Parts: sequence; C-alpha cells; structure tokens
Amino acid sequence: MKKVIKLFLFIFFATVSFGADEKLINVLCYHKFKVTKIKEKDKEILDTYSIKPENFEKQMKYLKDNGYNLIGMKEFIDYMYGKGEIPEKPILITIDDGYKSIYEYAYPVLKKYKIPATIYIYQVFVNAGKNTLSFDEIKELSENGFEFGCHSNTHPVLTNKKNLTDEEYIKFLEKEIIEPKKYLEKKIGVPIETMAYPYGSYSKEVHKIVEKAGYKLAFSVVPSYNTKETHKYSLKRTMIYVSTTIDEFKKILERKQLKLKEFYPGDGDIIEDEQPVLKVKLLEDSNLNIETIKFKIDNIDLKDSIYNPETKMLLYSYKENKKKLKKGMHDIKVIAKGKDGNHYEYAWLFITGRPLKINLK
Ligand SMILES: [Zn+2]
Repeated sequence: MKKVIKLFLFIFFATVSFGADEKLINVLCYHKFKVTKIKEKDKEILDTYSIKPENFEKQMKYLKDNGYNLIGMKEFIDYMYGKGEIPEKPILITIDDGYKSIYEYAYPVLKKYKIPATIYIYQVFVNAGKNTLSFDEIKELSENGFEFGCHSNTHPVLTNKKNLTDEEYIKFLEKEIIEPKKYLEKKIGVPIETMAYPYGSYSKEVHKIVEKAGYKLAFSVVPSYNTKETHKYSLKRTMIYVSTTIDEFKKILERKQLKLKEFYPGDGDIIEDEQPVLKVKLLEDSNLNIETIKFKIDNIDLKDSIYNPETKMLLYSYKENKKKLKKGMHDIKVIAKGKDGNHYEYAWLFITGRPLKINLK
C-alpha cells in the first residue's frame, strides 16, 4: 500500500512540476523594414512600424546567439493540435501586410540565419503596386521556405459593426475571412491555414467565421506569449516597433507565465456595460510580490486594482473609479513582479459594443 501511495505521489508531483515547465511560445510581429519618415502634422517622424534592416538583423542574431529556437508555422500548428513536439525556447516570426521591403530587406537576413517566417497578406494589397509584394516575389518566397497566411480582404477592424444589421455584419465577416482565403490559395497555389486579424481585433463571433472558413490558427496582436492551452483563434503576438531596443526585446522574450481562471470579461467576449467590474482569480501567488499584482488595460496600469490574497481575486471597478471604457477592443493584462525579480503576466482581449442577436452556428 505504501508503495502505491509513493507511486501516486511521484506521479502527482511529476505532473505538477511538468506543468510548471510549460513552454511559452512567443510570436513576434513585424511590418516594414526600411527607415521611413512619415509626416505628422508639420513634423517628419520615423514610421513606428518600419524597422531598420540592421536592427532587424541584430534581433535575429540575438535569438540565434541566445538559444532560441525559431520554428515554422507548420510545426506550430501540429504542436497546437497535439501532433508533435517543439523545441525549448520556441519563437515564431510573422510579418504583416505584404510590403515590398520584406523581399528587399527581411528576406536576405532570414535566409542568412535560416529563420522561417510567415507572411500575412491581404487580398487588395497583393501585387498592387511598387510598395507591395508581387505574385512572382510571393512565389519565390514560398519556394524558399516562407509560409503565407491571410490578413483579410480589405484590412478592416473585424469587430467594428458600424451601422450594419446582423445579417450584413455576418456577410461582411464572410467577405473578409472566407473569400480571401480562397483567393490566396488559388493565386499562390498553397493552402492558407492561418489568419492574422487586422489591428489584432477579434471576438467570439469572429471566431465562428474563422472556424467556418477552415483556418487552423488565428493571431491577434495582444502583446503576450502563448501556451498549448491558448485558444487556437486567440493567439497572441508581440509587435516590434522602430523604437524597440535590444533590452526591451530581451524583456519580451523573458516574460513569465501567470496562471489565472474565472475571467470577467472573458477572452473574445463582447460586453455592453462600459463600466464593468474586471475580475480574475490567480491560481498561485506565493511566488509574487502581492502589492505588484494589477490589471493593465490598453497598456495603462490600473493602479486602483484591488487584490485579495485570501480569495486570490483581483478586481477593478470602473464605476467606483468613475471611469468609463471606450467602445471597441481592449487588451487586458494581469501583471505582477515575482519574488525572483521576473515579470509575470497573462493577457487577453474583449470588446465593448453590441453583440449579435442572432445565434451564429
Ligand atoms: Zn495589418
């Protein structure tokens, strides 16, 4: 009997410690690769989405020199569907929109370091002039290990219903999610298995159409890591900007996992209340500095978040703080400093607005 108990305890602790070693998968999101100045009012400023090619190379070299394993989308799909393993410290590179500078500047760097990447293109921006990738370039990239995904038809905010009726909104989603997948598959001749939401915006309603279209995975730009348990259509990506320093880049890669449950609002929820009480429960807090546990919304710390160590509940009331949420999408994060000095977090997204009245199948 003692042996049985010992064996049981062994299995129990082995499972627990295995759980603690869960892989965090960081997906980085890039756009353009050349120093570009844009006009804002009367001033010329650097285009925040355009990385200097030499900085991009520094970042890729950093990943290679520091034991990160750059994996391709196919490998990631298999892993998320329980069909394969991925190495430790996994990273994916994704590039949105399909600018010509991918071919001119990112392609040589990625080739040099043998790094796979997935390019998200949208229908009306393909082969559409001197700033966009041509079909010949897409073909060449595709034959050289690059993967392609869909970034919609016209690049709208998919959760913005404007004045559309429910029926019109569903038609709009189908036109932006289902049609470009078919178009790109026909034009490029490869299966399009993943999608990146324009502006990163999604909801549970959008998920339904993504599923109907047959995508295997879909990505937002909620700036956080993924695990095997992350919803397949709510995958997170961290955008890299022209201002991202190597130090900040390093911090992005070293974020630690915070385990939560009982979320309100939940991931992809659409809520009508503009003064909700944000709520979440921590599974574990013994490794954290309690006073640092907070909500962060749309990149702003909610300093008046209230954490109760007894119940492990974190709350923030918009009504009590006399604040109101804007209509639209919100990145929500729980952040905390660990006793080990590390940064712990978990992030998701919800929408304030009008949910559909009809039930999507
Ligand atoms: Zn985009």
